[in-house]
Amino acid sequence: PRQFFVGGNFKMNPGTAEQKKTIVKVLNEATLDQAVEVVIAPPAIWLITLRELLRSDIKVSAQNCYFKPSGAFTGEISPAQLVDAQVPYVILGHSERRTLFHETSELVAQKTKAALEAGLSVILCVGETLQEREANKTAEVVQAQLKPVIDTLKESDWAKIVIAYEPVWAIGTGKVATSAQAQEAHADIRAYVTKAVSPAVAENTRVIYGGSVTAANCKELATQPDVDGFLVGGASLKPEFVDIINAKK
Ligand code: 13P
Repeated sequence: PRQFFVGGNFKMNPGTAEQKKTIVKVLNEATLDQAVEVVIAPPAIWLITLRELLRSDIKVSAQNCYFKPSGAFTGEISPAQLVDAQVPYVILGHSERRTLFHETSELVAQKTKAALEAGLSVILCVGETLQEREANKTAEVVQAQLKPVIDTLKESDWAKIVIAYEPVWAIGTGKVATSAQAQEAHADIRAYVTKAVSPAVAENTRVIYGGSVTAANCKELATQPDVDGFLVGGASLKPEFVDIINAKK
């Protein structure tokens, strides 16, 4: 059985140390479903503080990293530096990185390989635009995003990967995928991993959903057999994040 996974992607939030304190207080005082793996991805500047302030059953994740271990790469953070700072996870290939910062699937694959080699676990994001969905290209687009990663990794690497299916049209828009749409996309991803990697990896790899997840819509999404958790943006900054963590309860 795949352990349910709920990630909070804070993106470039919260804006102030005061807001950060409130979030930590809410999470530290909440009753959380102990069967769920919970991971918070704050901006890099707060990774160490949050790791220290948060209760020990919540892990932290970076939102990005580079593929080189060190050197003249202004503005970047390396996988080795994250490991050294006791950060266990990194999000790679988020749609905002792909779109706004022009990251290709090949670069995402290179970063994924470097992150795994350094000892990080990876939340690997994929997803189609509205235009691609309307052209019935969802599966094709997602497979093209996964392929360079699959080609780069060994089968054993997959134990440390969580795939996040995040349709671009659902991110930050308030337009959540229906549970049928999420289930279909997740099942397609699992079928592709079955074929391109192995049935065992497909069976064991968590595929989580992201895009306008809220306390109100998470329970129904969580009933879908191939939805193994969530990657939450906006709602992860609010007290309702606790209800999303507890979606299966
Ligand atoms: P929202 O939950 O704000 O739509 O963001 C989703 C996301 O991009 C998580 O990585």
